[in-house]
Amino acid sequence: MSQRITVLVEHLEGQPTDVTFELLGLARRIAKTNGAAVEALLFGETVRHLAQTLPADRVVMVEHPLLRYLAPEATAITLTTLLRTDPPWLVLIPNTSLGMDVAAWVAATLDWPLIAYCEALEQHDGQLVATAQLFGGKILADVKLEDRPTVISALAGTFATDALPPAPPGTIEHRDPPAELAALRTRSVVLERPEAADVDITRAEKIVAVGRGIESKDNLELAEQVAEALGAVLAASRPLVDAGWLPRSRQVGKSGLKVKPKLYFALGISGAPEHLEGMKDAELIIAVNKDPKAPIFSVADYGVVADLFEVAEALLERLEG
Ligand SMILES: Cc1cc2nc3c(=O)[nH]c(=O)nc-3n(C[C@H](O)[C@H](O)[C@H](O)COP(=O)(O)OP(=O)(O)OC[C@H]3O[C@@H](n4cnc5c(N)ncnc54)[C@H](O)[C@@H]3O)c2cc1C
Repeated sequence: MSQRITVLVEHLEGQPTDVTFELLGLARRIAKTNGAAVEALLFGETVRHLAQTLPADRVVMVEHPLLRYLAPEATAITLTTLLRTDPPWLVLIPNTSLGMDVAAWVAATLDWPLIAYCEALEQHDGQLVATAQLFGGKILADVKLEDRPTVISALAGTFATDALPPAPPGTIEHRDPPAELAALRTRSVVLERPEAADVDITRAEKIVAVGRGIESKDNLELAEQVAEALGAVLAASRPLVDAGWLPRSRQVGKSGLKVKPKLYFALGISGAPEHLEGMKDAELIIAVNKDPKAPIFSVADYGVVADLFEVAEALLERLEG
């Protein structure tokens, strides 16, 4: 095992994803204190052009048509082959729909430990400790890393990318694809995009989010007026999206989108762990709920125990009047 931290590069539409840069930043911060080297593994059909953009000491590329769209089986087989030959200390994989499959596959195949849903990785008294979410974030487990190769699938949006200035890659190496790719049981045929989103709530600076407390689709108009008056976009908890009141692109949470706005104004949202997972990192959270015990208040900077309709109308009067 070498003192190397390996990051699996995830990319889409010709660009590394944001979480890739988060993981490279994380790897570089750990490497700085441990003297480890940072390696980026870049797989795909044609990915040469991406290698230059990756801040790592070494970029290892494998190109093959079957690695198009980073198909999970092909990616997992290629990754396992490289890691088996030269095991690193840590393998960081984005905990995305792609990475979840790949991380579990690699850990099981190589019989290495897997820390999934990792939201923090820090040194404590000279020991590296990972914090992992269990049961959809209801429990946080601190896991001390042993001195052996370990796979970590890390949640997107939880690690900073800008702690160190970007650095160009050191060496770029090319490896042959593994022979096992010829015997794949699955392959990606086409990349289908979801319907175009009307607004991108992940980029919004201010969000007014409504939950089941809004009671009916007709009442959304009031929330929309509040959002407009605040210069915010409207988002929602999952039940409203499941009911078809708002498109999936407006859903905040575990199975929706993770947001980090300057203001998150929650109206009638209870604050289930699956919802909190998507918004707890907002800079300022204001929650309105008529139940003083609603869990949303545990993450709110300001909480208003009141009827949301009364608050919304009073706010509109103040903002528009
Ligand atoms: C695998 C999985 C994934 C999930 N993913 C997501 C996800 O991505 N996003 C998500 O949001 N949920 C998700 N959920 C669902 C989640 O568990 C909750 O069921 C959901 O978040 C609850 O939504 P809510 O807060 O709007 O509704 P409720 O829990 O019903 O809460 C409504 C709240 O409104 C308050 N209220 C009612 N009337 C008023 C009023 N007049 N004024 C003020 N307050 C009022 C109530 O006190 C209550 O707290 C997921 C669940 C699972 C199992």
